[in-house]
Amino acid sequence: MKNIYGITREKLEQYFLENNEKKFKALQVFEWLYIHKEENIENWSNIKKEVRDKMKEDFSFAIPKIKRCEKDTLTRKYLFELYDENCIEAVVMFHDYGTSLCVSSQVGCNMGCAFCESGRLKKVRDLETYEMVSQILLVEKDLGMRISSVVIMGIGEPLDNYENVMAFIRIINDAKGLALGIRHITLSTSGLVPKIYDLKKENIQINLAISLHAPNDTLRSKLMKVNQVYNISQLVEAIKDYIQHTNRRVTIEYVMLKGINDSEACAIELANLLHGMNIYVNLIPYNETNHIEFKKSEKNTISKFCELLKKKGINVTIRKEFGSAISAACGQLRSKEVE
Ligand code: SAH
Ligand code: SF4
Repeated sequence: MKNIYGITREKLEQYFLENNEKKFKALQVFEWLYIHKEENIENWSNIKKEVRDKMKEDFSFAIPKIKRCEKDTLTRKYLFELYDENCIEAVVMFHDYGTSLCVSSQVGCNMGCAFCESGRLKKVRDLETYEMVSQILLVEKDLGMRISSVVIMGIGEPLDNYENVMAFIRIINDAKGLALGIRHITLSTSGLVPKIYDLKKENIQINLAISLHAPNDTLRSKLMKVNQVYNISQLVEAIKDYIQHTNRRVTIEYVMLKGINDSEACAIELANLLHGMNIYVNLIPYNETNHIEFKKSEKNTISKFCELLKKKGINVTIRKEFGSAISAACGQLRSKEVE
């Protein structure tokens, strides 16, 4: 049975038309779900009882539970329990400009990047759309405040769960849904090239972030298995095509691993690779984890790397570090059963 929180307004309109009802019912239902946030269908006063009864037969209304919440000054990490007892995490970050939420898209991840904690558990399953929407609803309810931006950078590879992630984006962006501005939604991918070509056809103005992490194939293939399937030149072609088609600047993520990808030579190679593209590079100080050997680059190595890129004309920023004290930082999230 389809969960009500996983259905786009367009699909809900179809449902009502198929049931000989007016399609604007979908708008009314969306207002109950996402504007009034009224979970009890019996209180949906402008929907007739017979329609409500039919909806109760056709849809599930259950959502995940918050199992645990850990707090740090600028971060909160939520552990959610799903209907099948699998768990996922989402992280809230409080910035001066608003509150952002990092959501998960899968239970585990099959991409197997060498440096990432989230990928230590092989993918168990894709998250359903409502399980992604619920992360936002539950956190907003718990905090008593609105989330102003969403990054799909938690556990999982979002483009490996393409349809569900696209429906998620449409629901949260819908003016009568959670009404999150499209430019406040960021999707990060390890580089599933064919899906990047699909994404441009969606005609959505989200922010796209690409996890590059290395300037050449030898190194990238060691760090990221996905590079053995789609290499850097194929990835760069797809990014160029995406930029040309959408007119959007793309973010290139580059995690700084001590002695691995943080040399001057790497910076120069990276600058040459990205030269002339409408991108900006986000250098991510590596978050160390207990199970993985990689170390974080020294602060001054990161600054030097950053300066070199700048000198070569590349736009670059260093990502502010968030949440490492409660293992809530990038690449530290996991599903509870892996220890
Ligand atoms: N699977 C997607 C999105 C989730 S990972 C992707 O890989 O893009 C979000 C970002 O965190 C990616 O850029 C990822 O490479 C990075 N990351 C993974 N482990 C990390 C760690 N331990 N420290 C810092 N960043 C990490
Ligand atoms: Fe998966 Fe992203 Fe982690 Fe790679 S970095 S294992 S793609 S979550």
